[in-house]
Amino acid sequence: MSELYRTPHYEPPPGKDTGATPMQVLVTGVTPPVPSATHGAMTTLVGLRLDGPRHWIRFDEIPAHPLSQTAPVRRYDIVSAIAEPDPADPRPESWRVHDATLRVRHEARRWPGRAAILHRHAEWSMCDLEDSAARRPDAQSLALIRVAELRYVRVNRTPVAAPAERWSAATWRRTEPDLFRPVVHDLLRRPPFTVAYRYHCHHPVCRSHVQELRDRDVVAFQQRRRRYCGLPLRRALVGEFWWPLRQPGREVAFLVGSRRDAPARFDILDTVILRR
Ligand SMILES: [Zn+2]
Repeated sequence: MSELYRTPHYEPPPGKDTGATPMQVLVTGVTPPVPSATHGAMTTLVGLRLDGPRHWIRFDEIPAHPLSQTAPVRRYDIVSAIAEPDPADPRPESWRVHDATLRVRHEARRWPGRAAILHRHAEWSMCDLEDSAARRPDAQSLALIRVAELRYVRVNRTPVAAPAERWSAATWRRTEPDLFRPVVHDLLRRPPFTVAYRYHCHHPVCRSHVQELRDRDVVAFQQRRRRYCGLPLRRALVGEFWWPLRQPGREVAFLVGSRRDAPARFDILDTVILRR
């Protein structure tokens, strides 16, 4: 067994019978917006609960719409909300926010203590996480995984949207006022490329993992470079999302989360540099 490999210190979050709970969460991942028939565009926020025992938390279906009541949330904001466990989602970290209770504190982005908190929650084995998620739908579905070896990055063409997503976008366009359409249309514009990594975790016989980076920054980066296309955009993506992770001496971790429709498949929701 590798010297670095340890059993993850994961403690299961409280059960699904918990009622409405006020909580504070350090946001560490924000997914790209997806179409919603009722709100136009939704994101998922992922982070660490700061009050009470430190657990990973997922808030699904947060409006991404800047004109809605909720200010856009960015990574390393602290949000407070009243939430309850999502009864429709077996993943233990999934909570549903009560309407209009989400509040955002932006100043936490300069908070030095957050690096130490993330360090303490970094785990060693993606292999174990995938195995348990494949066995049980209510297994741990969020984790910060230390990367033992980064193998390569792939910049792929974005696939066509799934039929359910196209239906949601079309339904929203039919029912909502013209005022919001350009904003939501911009939010939902699919970028030309996606970014995926292949890496090894610290499991002694890691089978290697290929996971897509589903971070709103990947979409925003390409939206700011609309005049780029093809090879120049691919090169820019590699410059932004690969080379900083490859600097000598850096220790990298990936915040990973499983997909709701395929619990054994994980995406990378954020890249974290644990040691510079
Ligand atoms: Zn592994």
